[in-house]
Order: sequence, then C-alpha cells, then structure tokens
Amino acid sequence: MAENKMENIISLCKRRGFIFPGSEIYGGLESIYDYGPLGVELKNNIKKAWWREMTHGHQNIVGLDAAILMHPKVWEASGHLRGFSDPLVECKKCHKRFRVDEVKQSCPECAGQLTEAKMFNLMFKTFVGPVDDLASVLWLRPETAQGIFVNFNNIRQVARLKLPFGVAQIGKVFRNEITTGNFIFRTREFEQMELEFFVKPVEAEKWYNYWQEKRIAWYLSLGIKKENLRLRDHKKSELAHYAQACSDIEYRFPFGWSEVEGIANRTDFDLKQHAKISGQDLSYFDDETKEKIFPYVIEPSAGVDRPLLAFLVDAYTEIKGGRTTTTKAVKEREVVLKLDKRLAPVKFAVLPLVNKTPLLKLAKEIYENLKRYWFIQYDEIGSIGRRYRRQDEIGTPYCLTVDFESLEDKKVTVRDRDTMKQERLNIAELEDYFREIFENF
Ligand code: ATP
Repeated sequence: MAENKMENIISLCKRRGFIFPGSEIYGGLESIYDYGPLGVELKNNIKKAWWREMTHGHQNIVGLDAAILMHPKVWEASGHLRGFSDPLVECKKCHKRFRVDEVKQSCPECAGQLTEAKMFNLMFKTFVGPVDDLASVLWLRPETAQGIFVNFNNIRQVARLKLPFGVAQIGKVFRNEITTGNFIFRTREFEQMELEFFVKPVEAEKWYNYWQEKRIAWYLSLGIKKENLRLRDHKKSELAHYAQACSDIEYRFPFGWSEVEGIANRTDFDLKQHAKISGQDLSYFDDETKEKIFPYVIEPSAGVDRPLLAFLVDAYTEIKGGRTTTTKAVKEREVVLKLDKRLAPVKFAVLPLVNKTPLLKLAKEIYENLKRYWFIQYDEIGSIGRRYRRQDEIGTPYCLTVDFESLEDKKVTVRDRDTMKQERLNIAELEDYFREIFENF
C-alpha cells in the first residue's frame, strides 16, 4: 500500500508535469530529475515561502547568493576534502558499494562477501580551464553554507549587523552519493535552503532550541500533518565533524521516517578554520564586553527537493468511490492534491461551463485580467467534470466556472478543491478575494 502510494505519486508527477526523469530520451540518468512546468512552480513557491519566513520575517537576517564554484582552499578549511566522506564497503561478488551503516555482514543485493570499509570523497571534481591537471581542480559545492562563512566580513560590513544575526541562502549543491533512491529523496544534484545564524557562544543552546521550534512550525504552517512530522536528536556517533549538536526534522514518508531538514550547532569551527587557512581576521568585536570572539553558528539546513516530496506525499489524497464522476475506472482512483493554497502551482482555473462563444469570451476576459497577479489557467477543453478532476489532481485550490447566468448577474461559481463547496462571487470582487487567500504568492 505504502509502496503503491509512492508509485502513484511518481506517476502523477510524470503525467501532470511535476517531475521527469533527467535526460529521459537517452534512457535517463540515475537519480537525476528535471522539474516540469508544475514542478518548477511548486519548487519556486516552497523557496519563496522559506525566503519570506527566514529573511524578510527577521530584521537581523539577510540573504546571499554565492557561487557554486569556490576556491579549493575553502574545502581544505571546511574539512570536506578530508572528512566529507563515508566509509564504504564493496561486494566482492557483484561489486556494488554500500555505506557501512546500511549493511550488516553480507551484500544486501546478492549476499556476497563484503570488503573492508574504505573512504570515498562525496564531492564532484571539475577542472577550470582547458587543462585537466592538479593545479586546475575545483569542486562543486556539497553545501551552500561555506559561501556564507567566506563572506562573513563582507556581509557584516555592509549590513551593520550585531549578534545574533543570520545569513540565508538557497542554491544548488552536488554530492556524489553512493546510494541514491526513493525518487527525489536522495539524488546527486539537489537544492538546499540554509540559514547560518551567528550567536554568542553562551547563547548557542538557546538559539539551537529556538530554531528547532521555528522550523517545525514552518512545516506545520504549510499544511504538513502533525502526526507525520517529528524531531530526532542525533547520537554523538552520528554528528558531522563540525557539529556539537544536531537534530533532524523527519517526515513519515511511505518508505519510513526520513530527514527533510537538519538543525546543527556548528560551533565556531568554520569561522576559525577559514581565519586560520586564509589568514584573515574573521572574529567579531563584542561592543559590550570589548572582546574579540568567534561567534557560534546555529544552522537550520533544509533541502528543497525532500521537503517538496514531503509536501506532495502529505497532500496526496485518493477519494474512495470518486466524487466528480460516475465512471467506474475514474471512481476507483480519483486524486486530490491538497497542497497548501500558497504552495499550489496553479492558484485557480477559469472554466467556461460549456463551449459557447459568449461564455468563452467572458471567461477569457476574467483570465486575462487576473493572470497579471497569479499563475492561473484557462481551460475550455473537455467536460466540466473532467476539467475539475484535472485541476484537483494538480492541487489547484479553486475553479471558477462561467455559466449563462454569469452573463446576466456578472458572477461566477467558485468551487473549493477541498470542501467542494460552491459559492457565487462578483467578478469585480475576485481580485480582492484571492489577494487575501494567496497573499503575495
Ligand atoms: P542524509 O543523512 O540523508 O544523507 P545529510 O544529513 O547528509 O542527509 P545534510 O548534510 O544535513 O544531509 O543536508 C541538509 C538537507 O539537505 C537534508 O536535510 C536534505 O533535505 C538535503 N539533502 C541532503 N542530501 C541530499 C540528497 N542526496 N538528495 C536530496 N536532498 C538531500
């Protein structure tokens, strides 16, 4: 059943244009995905919700968009070149590799004997310029955080910030993961939304707890069901080389509880390391104590893709027995994607009830007027039931139906995706009505 749910979601994503397998015409590329017309809208809405909450919602947090390629010394300082590796074992029979923590005595695929554990670098290597030599090696960033640490002085100078303050960033990262899978859950190219929140060391625990609460609240505010979300503290043995404490926000996926976001106390590790390797002064002068300190860093680090999958799974609802049809085949699997209204790719659809010129004309007029503010759709093709179902399946919160009465009373019927309630609203009032619901999404 749970497996089925994932399969159904993957197939919906393909069929409706949320997510496609990458390079599909060439047979695809393992664990690489492309976001289609609706997927890119959903993704942008998630990023927008995060950005607004994490930067515009706080006077002491600013944004950054650093480059993916960084000076190789960055990775020496951060410890990634040395420590960004997972101990791996290889099956002597089928030569598949696995993370040590994922296997026991024998190969899970063919029960073959496993090798001793070896280290493997997770960063993708690339070369700058025409010559592939050692001097020209660069790495694709495996986290966005380092772009923030190396800009610490730049940002402080321009933004005149006092502790505690934060820098937020969204961007692509790359990890040469050994095991990938579960659709977009673990891929080799993905996006992260990270906040590095700089605090006085004595206040680190307080802010660590603060961000744990804030981040959980963010998922709930966007509609994730409480029973599907939990916080799990890391054991000491699980901590990354730079972290003093770490916890995961986990979502109950059909394949089990799994991390969507990590919250870490990275201490002063990164700033001190960059100060040491670059020779630059990255300390902070505390006006009150007249002391130079290295701030501690609390980092809520979310993916974009994993939360997106969580939002999709949480919203995916099969209506037993159907609700818009009497057709047997459809009745068995009628799907409504109950996405939060702000996250929904299409905000509403304008549908002429039947294919008659005056209705089409009025419906188009409404569409033309309101498409200036939101991503909406106009659809005149097929029966009205079929068009409702299509919009339900892609999570469109409202359908506006233009009928013959609309020509007389200048009203349309607004159908709510979740309650199926229908109300008549004045065409002239639609803009204000939706502005309140969708805010600026
Ligand atoms: P995991 O233990 O699952 O490999 P991680 O602990 O290495 O994850 P972090 O380094 O904490 O992950 O990264 C922060 C966030 O980035 C994760 O919570 C997740 O949402 C996202 N993320 C990490 N690795 C991947 C991946 N391979 N594919 C998609 N998203 C990822």
